[in-house]
Amino acid sequence: MSSTNGREAIIGIDLGTTNSEVAVVEDCQPRIITDGGDGILPSAVGLDMDGRLLVGEPALNQMLAAPERTVRSIKRRMGTADKVRLGDVEYTPQEISAVILRHLKERAERYLGAPVRKAVITVPAYFNDAQRQATREAGELAGLEVVRILHEPTAASLVYEAERCRGEAAIGPRKILVYDMGGGTFDVSIVEIHSGVIEVRASHGDTHLGGDDFDALLLDHVAERFLKERGVDLRSIPRARARTLRAVERAKRVLSSHPFVTVEEEFIAERDGVPLHLSVELRRDDYEAMIRPLIERSMGSVQTALHDAKLLTRDIDRIVLVGGATRTPLIQRELAARTGIEPHHEVDPDLCVALGAAAEAALIAGEDLHSVLVDITPHSMGVGCLDELDEELGPYLFSPVIPKGSTLPAARSEVYYTASDYQKVVEVCVYQGEERDVRRNTKLGTFRVEGLTPVPAGNEIVIQFQLTLDGTLTAKATEKATGLSRQIVVDDALHSFTDEDRARARERLDRLHRLEVDGGSPAAAGAEGGATGEVASAEPAAQPAGKSPQDQAIEDTVRRIRALLDRMVPEDREEAVELIDRATSGAAAGRLEDARAAHRELQEMLFFLEEA
Ligand code: AMP
Repeated sequence: MSSTNGREAIIGIDLGTTNSEVAVVEDCQPRIITDGGDGILPSAVGLDMDGRLLVGEPALNQMLAAPERTVRSIKRRMGTADKVRLGDVEYTPQEISAVILRHLKERAERYLGAPVRKAVITVPAYFNDAQRQATREAGELAGLEVVRILHEPTAASLVYEAERCRGEAAIGPRKILVYDMGGGTFDVSIVEIHSGVIEVRASHGDTHLGGDDFDALLLDHVAERFLKERGVDLRSIPRARARTLRAVERAKRVLSSHPFVTVEEEFIAERDGVPLHLSVELRRDDYEAMIRPLIERSMGSVQTALHDAKLLTRDIDRIVLVGGATRTPLIQRELAARTGIEPHHEVDPDLCVALGAAAEAALIAGEDLHSVLVDITPHSMGVGCLDELDEELGPYLFSPVIPKGSTLPAARSEVYYTASDYQKVVEVCVYQGEERDVRRNTKLGTFRVEGLTPVPAGNEIVIQFQLTLDGTLTAKATEKATGLSRQIVVDDALHSFTDEDRARARERLDRLHRLEVDGGSPAAAGAEGGATGEVASAEPAAQPAGKSPQDQAIEDTVRRIRALLDRMVPEDREEAVELIDRATSGAAAGRLEDARAAHRELQEMLFFLEEA
């Protein structure tokens, strides 16, 4: 008999449309059983040329070459009378699912070194009785007693609320919003926990919305550009299309933690016998503009689910993210902006449901359960930027690079812009904390990058942070155009921000405010993170509302360009007038990206005109 605590182990299985996982509670902690890899088993089943059974990655790999011998996304057919053909034989959806479940059961048995007979299996909240029954049958065909069919959003909530689910009545009711976006489907559920009873109060979704749609938009964007520049439509050549799609999907993942990425594929096509290579830089800002309408659509579902549950956003205690696509920062930002609640993504959104299934299994078995949350950064790590804070311009706005709650190790980067024309130096001040004003956070270190190219304001500086499990933070700043970079290493960056540190920061800040009332300026008082002389901290890409340094810079550039209009040749003048209009009306109407792009072009113009 297998045992994690002298008892028979019950495994938790997330039987997904695209991927499946198995987990078990050990030492009071749910763990994914990985079998050496990352624990994610593609939900694909196939037969190879010799009729041998393939499960997971090998089946997926032969999908293109042998679609008649491969089955994917069987979950979409559960509960129907459909049959799928594998080679010469037809199978029911239950039978195909049973193959996946058996593979996971055997994986667990190898890991635990003992037979496994019982499992908790998850299903979407919208599954009807026939679909749930089919899932139960699939489990039984795989040799498992299905001790519970659990809703996926319930499982995800359990990961974050395990202690509340042990029936601790003293803890009041909790309402959790679970936003689940995978590759092809999206759903949002409202889960309520009350005295240990956990139920889905409402669920709403869109079976045709997910990360695959983001890939399709990127594919079109890249292909259109290639068509314009090279005269070949990559979408019309099946192999080139498949390669480009794979490349943009990878690029999309990179954009979740970096502001730029270059999609590169050699020999992607040819024209008149000449090989063509693909190389396109994608910017997160542009990508976000492309996917925004889809994200808006998902936010409509959030409203519907709240309405169905007769709740308002202020009634929600926690937001939990599930599904790979929720790593997209725009989704996290939009949810936070609309609800005022920072969504939780500490637990890997691909593994959250399986971990919750294992937690439920442990609760059924009467096992002890500790918090699942380990190896996350307890504080945000970021830099100080020149911006408006409480209507005062200064280098005190905190811009997080690695947000609080990120899983470790973490590597992220953000882009910032120099604030002054011909700026040769940036000083980067690194902080830990959650306050918008860096003076209330803990300073971890500071460094300078000297010798920047003397160009107009807006020189792109990429700040990259890497934080290891043992708390070593490497902060690096790179001038994007030249690759010039500097870095610092901070040991023990996870050292907690103590009450004493906080009190000291407050005191420093109060002293500064007093000085200001008395007529001394904060910079003159030697504030930490201050920008002096030609050194200025970088300015963030996203400006808050109000008259930002960007608006001021636009005004300044426009004034200088206007003074030169008479000296320009007619074509330049026409272009300048158009750019002035784009920069000023764009800034006023909140089209910041366009305003910034026009501003940069105006600055370039100015650079040449004033040189001349
Ligand atoms: P799932 O069905 O939950 O496995 O989610 C798969 C979807 O998540 C696919 O569209 C992936 O491209 C997407 N995905 C995975 N990792 C990331 C990431 N780091 N950023 C954005 N999307 C991601």
